[in-house]
Amino acid sequence: MVEGMKKKLGWRQLAPGDLLGPATSLDFETGDWRTQRPIWDGEKCKNCLFCWIYCPDSAIMVKGKKMVGIDYRYCKGCGICAAECRFEAIEMKNEKGGGND
Ligand code: SF4
Ligand code: SF4
Repeated sequence: MVEGMKKKLGWRQLAPGDLLGPATSLDFETGDWRTQRPIWDGEKCKNCLFCWIYCPDSAIMVKGKKMVGIDYRYCKGCGICAAECRFEAIEMKNEKGGGND
């Protein structure tokens, strides 16, 4: 080791910490954070599932390789799905009563 260089701790030397169990996000329904709501048009949808790939909240519902809707219990209204959809099948609208109408 070069003189004056600080020696880093290995992971075995770190104090044990808490671990969170998996899938805790399912316990928190974050849909009420939303100020905008994605509206899906099934007629325009081509089931490419880009929205499903990009949605950070896994709120795009898929059954049998087809999009079937949006789970508003978890959708935070970020608009990524609407931005990624090449077929304009998702449109962002203001939430009613959210002060943006
Ligand atoms: S990105 Fe658009 S066309 Fe593709 S599955 Fe989603 S809504 Fe349908
Ligand atoms: S608005 Fe954001 S969180 Fe909601 S479905 Fe689209 S990508 Fe997912």
